[in-house]
Amino acid sequence: MPVWDDLVGQERLSAQLDAAARDADAIVTAAAAGAPPPEVSKMTHAWLFTGPPGAGHLTAARAFAAALQCVSPDRALGGAPGCGFCDGCHTTLVGTHADVTTVAAVGSQILVDAMRDTVRKSFTSPANGRWQVILVQDAERLNEKSANAVLKAVEEPAPRTVWLLCAPSLDDVLPTIRSRCRHVSLLTPSVEAVADMLVRREGIEPDAALAAARATQGHIDQARRLATDPRARERRAAVLRLPLRVEDVGGCLKAAQELVDAATEESKQLAEEIDTKETEELKAALGAAQGGRMPRGTAGVMKELEDKQKRRRTRAQRDSLDLALTDLTGFYRDVLALQLGSHVALANTEVQDTLERLARGTTPESTLRRIDAIAACRAALDRNVAPLLAVEAMTMALRAG
Ligand SMILES: [Zn+2]
Repeated sequence: MPVWDDLVGQERLSAQLDAAARDADAIVTAAAAGAPPPEVSKMTHAWLFTGPPGAGHLTAARAFAAALQCVSPDRALGGAPGCGFCDGCHTTLVGTHADVTTVAAVGSQILVDAMRDTVRKSFTSPANGRWQVILVQDAERLNEKSANAVLKAVEEPAPRTVWLLCAPSLDDVLPTIRSRCRHVSLLTPSVEAVADMLVRREGIEPDAALAAARATQGHIDQARRLATDPRARERRAAVLRLPLRVEDVGGCLKAAQELVDAATEESKQLAEEIDTKETEELKAALGAAQGGRMPRGTAGVMKELEDKQKRRRTRAQRDSLDLALTDLTGFYRDVLALQLGSHVALANTEVQDTLERLARGTTPESTLRRIDAIAACRAALDRNVAPLLAVEAMTMALRAG
């Protein structure tokens, strides 16, 4: 069915979700006819979607949600749910379906306050008579408290409620939660599958599509951005020049500063698109007068929104830095592949000359040490070390010996 087209290189998973969506549809149809539910069913009320970064586990969960809400008349003629075009599918995919609630972390955690309303909603019946779907985007960011709020709801949900939890891996989710979910896992899509998607869906030239897919190693959104956004290509080119610029201390510090500045700039761009609209909407909702004066007693709510936006900017900056570190790791992995003479396809063919020069001029041991330094930088950022400090330590380590 069309909704599964968004899953790139996940044939086995698509088939599994398709079967579950058909059985879910049979449950709804039986209930509408006053008949008992089918005895055997591949449908269940709690799912955990995991997968390597960028493989699209969130896309898979959303496609499944759409199939659950599909109201295409073709179903009555024996067609499977998930047409992608009916009101149920469409509103789910664009995020406006009344019976699909999406929870996303703001900052590094999903706070219990954000979860309570959702849990309350999960105990109500769906407005359209199909399924009440709760989609938790970053289940790994549920803290102890918010996870506890979710736990009971996942354990004994209302009859028509479905929880779809998403996380990078099983280990990232609290054991109490994951033991109550059916686990489905995505594979890293092949370079060919990603390139094919870029050609089909984005109209990218085959050669450019292949290059973008190879450079991003199975990360679908990054591949799409690289293929369609010149700014993303420029940022990546700058990252790949970095290994040649870290020859002395001055060069290292300057490169670090530029990397952090670029990440800050990108997060600002992303934030400005959302923040202004969000602030205006809240002001209007709170009844701001002409000329922008806010009614009394609304300062606290406005402050809360500012804090939320600040946390979101910090996270966007981290994500942007993370992407740069991924590009850098890929670069040194290519160097190592050349040094070891292994015949894997290089990810960064556009800088092949640089790769070969570094491969000849350094040892495999030093390349491994550099890859470790990038991993150490990532770990430091995870521990909330100031970004510039962490990145400077990395660029200095990329230089030495
Ligand atoms: Zn549909």
